[in-house]
Amino acid sequence: MTELPSPAAEAAALLDRLGVPRAAWTGGDLIATSPITGEVIGRPFAATPAAAAAAIATAEAAFRAWRKVPAPRRGEFVRLLGEELRAAKAELGRLVTLEAGKILSEGLGEVQEMIDICDFAVGLSRQLYGLTIATERARHRMMESWHPAGVVGVISAFNFPVAVWAWNAALAFVCGDAVVWKPSEKTPLTALAVQALVGRAAARFGAVPEGLSALLLGGREVGSVLVDSPAIPVLSATGSTAMGRAVASRVAARFGRAILELGGNNGAIVAPSADLDLVVRATAFAAMGTAGQRCTTLRRLIVHEAVADALLDRLRHAYRSVAIGDPRRPGTLVGPLIDAAAGAAMTAALAAARADGGVVTGGEAVAGPGGTYRRPALAEMPAQTAIVRQETFAPILHVMRYRAFEDAIAIHNGVPQGLSSSIFTNDLREAELFLSAQGSDCGIANVNIGPSGAEIGGAFGGEKETGGGRESGSDAWKAYMRRATNTVNYGRDLPLAQGVSFDV
Ligand code: NAD
Repeated sequence: MTELPSPAAEAAALLDRLGVPRAAWTGGDLIATSPITGEVIGRPFAATPAAAAAAIATAEAAFRAWRKVPAPRRGEFVRLLGEELRAAKAELGRLVTLEAGKILSEGLGEVQEMIDICDFAVGLSRQLYGLTIATERARHRMMESWHPAGVVGVISAFNFPVAVWAWNAALAFVCGDAVVWKPSEKTPLTALAVQALVGRAAARFGAVPEGLSALLLGGREVGSVLVDSPAIPVLSATGSTAMGRAVASRVAARFGRAILELGGNNGAIVAPSADLDLVVRATAFAAMGTAGQRCTTLRRLIVHEAVADALLDRLRHAYRSVAIGDPRRPGTLVGPLIDAAAGAAMTAALAAARADGGVVTGGEAVAGPGGTYRRPALAEMPAQTAIVRQETFAPILHVMRYRAFEDAIAIHNGVPQGLSSSIFTNDLREAELFLSAQGSDCGIANVNIGPSGAEIGGAFGGEKETGGGRESGSDAWKAYMRRATNTVNYGRDLPLAQGVSFDV
C-alpha cells in the first residue's frame, strides 16, 4: 500500500491553500488532532471571555448595518460565498476528512451541502415574504412583515464540522442577521478555513460590515458566553441531548429563542413486502456510514419475523466485508471514531447489549494507522432494552423482530429521541400509515430510503429529545427573523376591533 502523508503535513498544506494564516493555528492553547492517526495537526487559540464579549458587540454593530442592506443584495454576498466554497471544495472536503475522520466522498459531500444551502439562500433572499390578512375594519390593511432577528449564535458538533454552520449562517445572512459561531472544540481547523473563505467572499462583495461573521474557538465555556448573552436573540445549538438540556433552559430564562438540533436514535421498519436489496444497501450506508457518527445514523432496525433471518444473513455479510481504515484511501467505507472515548463508549454499549440478552457480531477493534478503528456491530436484541433507547454515537445497529405492524410502530416510537425514521415496504397502507399522524413521531419520515442523508430543500430537525428545532430548507428561515403584524388605517374613521366603542 502506498504511504500517505501525515495528517499534520497535509492539514498544514491545505490550511495554507485555504488562506488560513499559520499564526491562527500554531502556538495556541487548543489542540486539534486528527482521528485518523491521533496526531496533533494544529494548535489554534481559544477565545477569552473578553474576546468573546468583544466579538458579540462587534456583531451587534454589524447587524445594525447589515439589516439596512436589501435582502437580495445580502443574497449576493451568500452567492459569492457559494462560489468560494465551490472553488475550495476539494481542499475543504479533505480537511474535513483529516479533522473529523470522514471518508473523502463524505468530506466532499459535506462541502457540497454548504454549496447547496448557499444556492437555496440566494433564491430565498428574494422570497422573504409575509402575508396580507383580511381585516374586519373598513379601509384598513393588515399584513405581516419579517425583520432580521439580530445576532445569531451557532454552536456546532464535531460530526458535521462545517455544514451545520452553513445551514444556519447562509439563511441568517440573507435574513439580515450577524452570526457568531462556536464550533466543536474537536474541529477548530475546518472552522478557521470556513472563516477564511467567508473573508474571501466578503472582500469580493466589498461592503460587509466588520464582524458580520465571527468565530470563537474553545470548549463549552466559550459556548456558554453565547448561551447567556442577551445580545443573542437566536441561538442554534447542535449536539448531544445533554448539551441541549443544559443550554435550553438558560436561553429560555433570558427569553431567547433556541433552535435545538440534538441527538437521534433513528429506526427503520422492514416489512414483509420490503425489497431486501434496497434494505441492505440503505442500511449499510445509514448504519455504517460516517462510522455511525451522524445524528441521523440508523441505530434500530425493526424487522418483520418473516424476513428477519434472510435479512440478517445479508447484513452480517455486509458487516464482515466492509472496508475499514484510513478514510483517505479509496475503497474505505468506515473511517475512525472521533477519539478513544468514543471507542470506549461503543465497547460499553455492546457489553450492555450483551447483558440485556443481545447477540453481538462485530464491534471489535481494527488495526488502523493509529486512531480508534472499530468494526461496525450488529446487536440482535430480544427487546428494546434501556441501552437501545439511548444514543451511542458509534456504528451499532440494534435489530429487533416484530409480528404485528402496530407493534413495529410502537417499538419505533418507543424511544426518547425523534429525529429521523424510515419504513421499507411495498404495501401502500403501511407506508401511508407510517407517514400519518398515527405513524412515525419523528421530524423526518421516509419510505424506501434510509433515515440518513437529508437534502437541504426540506426542513431538518426532530421532535422529543432531539429538541424540536428546524434548520435548512422549507420555511426554516423564519426562525432567523422576527415577525411583526402591521395594521394600516387609510380611512378617516377609527373603528376598533371587536366592535369596541370608546368615544371621548
Ligand atoms: P456535544 O454535545 O459534546 O458538543 C456539541 C457542541 O456543544 C460543542 O461545540 C460543545 O463545545 C458545545 N457544548 C457542550 N456542552 C455545552 C454547554 N453546556 N454550553 C455550551 N456549549 C456546550 O456533541 P458532539 O459530541 O460534538 O456531537 C455529537 C452529538 O451531536 C450527537 O448526539 C449527535 O446526534 C448530535 N448531532 C445532532 C445533529 C442534529 O441536527 N440533530 C447534528 C449533528 C450532531
